[in-house]
Amino acid sequence: MSYKKPHLPTKICPGCHRPFSWRKKWERCWDQVRYCSDRCRKKKEEQ
Ligand SMILES: [Zn+2]
Repeated sequence: MSYKKPHLPTKICPGCHRPFSWRKKWERCWDQVRYCSDRCRKKKEEQ
């Protein structure tokens, strides 16, 4: 038995309202991640 698609946690980005999945760079701070990218985070702050 092998899983080619491991289940990764996902969240909905409040900036673009799209789901995004866990990434390696967030392994230490996934609980604090809210936006899918810096672009969405900055866009939200400007509005
Ligand atoms: Zn986004």
